[in-house]
Amino acid sequence: MTKLQKLLEIEGYTNVTELLAACITDSVSPAICCNPDCNYTAEMEPDQDRGFCEECRTNSMKSALVLAGVI
Ligand SMILES: [Zn+2]
Repeated sequence: MTKLQKLLEIEGYTNVTELLAACITDSVSPAICCNPDCNYTAEMEPDQDRGFCEECRTNSMKSALVLAGVI
């Protein structure tokens, strides 16, 4: 399972299109930590690709839009 798929599951979306539509209307995007053992999620800017993970204390958060390759 990719981080994007994991994020969809955690956020309760059934597919990427649904998530992207929500991001566009909200101007925030769910983001997930990309470290292998961490699935911390938070809402971040849609273009965030190195957000701070509260769990890992590293800049490893990527937004759904970045993971989906939209930005
Ligand atoms: Zn993390």
